[in-house]
Amino acid sequence: MEQAIEQKTGVEALLQKRPLIISGPCSAETEEQVIQTATRLAATGKVDILRAGIWKPRTRPGSFEGIGTKGLPWLQQARKASGLPVAVEVATGKQVEDALHFDVDVLWLGARTTVNPFSVQEVADALKGVKVPVLIKNPINPDLELWIGAVERVAKAGIEDIGLIHRGFSSYGNTEYRNAPMWHLAIEMKRRNPGMLLINDPSHICGRRDILMDVAQKAIDLDFDGLIIESHIDPDNAWSDAKQQVTPERLGEMIGSIIWRKEDISSEELHAAMEKMRQQINQLDDELLQLLGQRMKVADKIGQYKKDNNITILQTNRWNAILDRAFAKGDKLGLSREFITKYFDAVHMESINHQNKIMNS
Ligand code: PEP
Ligand code: MN
Repeated sequence: MEQAIEQKTGVEALLQKRPLIISGPCSAETEEQVIQTATRLAATGKVDILRAGIWKPRTRPGSFEGIGTKGLPWLQQARKASGLPVAVEVATGKQVEDALHFDVDVLWLGARTTVNPFSVQEVADALKGVKVPVLIKNPINPDLELWIGAVERVAKAGIEDIGLIHRGFSSYGNTEYRNAPMWHLAIEMKRRNPGMLLINDPSHICGRRDILMDVAQKAIDLDFDGLIIESHIDPDNAWSDAKQQVTPERLGEMIGSIIWRKEDISSEELHAAMEKMRQQINQLDDELLQLLGQRMKVADKIGQYKKDNNITILQTNRWNAILDRAFAKGDKLGLSREFITKYFDAVHMESINHQNKIMNS
């Protein structure tokens, strides 16, 4: 109980600020770059914590793998010059020790670390007896259990201030995003860890500057607690992740133009209006379920007919015709093709299961 009412101080208190904004370069490159980024970010008045990668886990060898321990004193300088606490990614026990030796205020586990329980455990072991906030990025692959496992390992090491960073998930093939957001996974993580800080990382989700704002706004609309966005004094010439970084000033503008929404509304009137619309939604959902039930009954009848006449369940032509019809209708009703496809896939599967039961009964 005492813990719950304990007044936090220092960086722990700062982590309770909403929205919490973290920014800074993907990688620390030079002393000058780190200090300039920090002071220009601080000048925007929109940033709470400076981030900088010191050790960079790169997918392929030969890319810039981070400046290493030599960059840690630069972060001390940057904090002194800007007043911003600093956050660094750690992936090994030695990196934890080095970062703490140079007074890094916040540590984070990267996506390539969260995937590996051996690495997470090594970091957790190095954190035993230490008081420092730790942010944990989601693993590269869409596996919530790994993310939760990392939180548990760090918590077991005695770390009290743990936060989550949603940075999207790797998926095969080209998509609009560098890492698919799969928002439902972040929402489920939040549901399972109520009250735990959850921030969004538009930079690593997007992999490019032009769509950062859309993702940042979406995260805020979904009630995320804040954002971590990469910034660089010369984004195009950054040594890592050049395409996704923005200048400190642009970062300030972006944060300034986000519409910050409240999770809940206090006025009675607004509540009543929301309640009315929610009831409408419930009513419509009930009707949709009724209709789906009826649709399955018809499917059962078709199943019986197919059984009697010895016809296969799946008839590809018919299925294509259903989808084409639905796309055309959906276009007019403002329903995306992605949604129509997902919805009809689910309905179709249920229908096939119904028919299967009948045909094999
Ligand atoms: C980073 O924050 O620069 C980074 C390496 O991110 P991630 O672990 O999300 O790939
Ligand atoms: Mn990066």
